[in-house]
Amino acid sequence: MTDSRSDCLFCKIVTGEVPAEVVREGERTVAFRDINPQAPTHVLIIPREHYRDVVSAGAAEVGILDEIAREAGEIARAEGVAESGYRLVFNTGPAAGQTVFHLHGHLLGGRGLEWPPG
Ligand code: 5GP
Ligand code: ZN
Repeated sequence: MTDSRSDCLFCKIVTGEVPAEVVREGERTVAFRDINPQAPTHVLIIPREHYRDVVSAGAAEVGILDEIAREAGEIARAEGVAESGYRLVFNTGPAAGQTVFHLHGHLLGGRGLEWPPG
């Protein structure tokens, strides 16, 4: 599904209908700070187009995941966490804690991150 959803929070962030602290914009992506940060750097990277999760976007074969990965690298550098390391997370489905069903990569860094995750 690639259409914009009138009831989708992140589609509304893309259009500006819902405000967000945007840190970087790409042709096909927007990155903004998470409203409830779990680390000193916690940025969400989303496609402008609506996909419900990372697997749906991969199945569409539109190359958006490569673009999100490239954006993540640039944001990590800009945030000063590229050297120390950071985590890119795509929660997929309710049991993994996905609450917003518009694909988003969490970029988390700036502190030690436990493994295995909770
Ligand atoms: P999920 O749990 O689906 O993987 O991640 C959704 C993320 O979106 C959560 O970390 C949550 O804090 C964040 N979030 C939810 N609503 C908003 C909002 O209105 N603005 C921003 N910037 N982040 C949000
Ligand atoms: Zn959406």
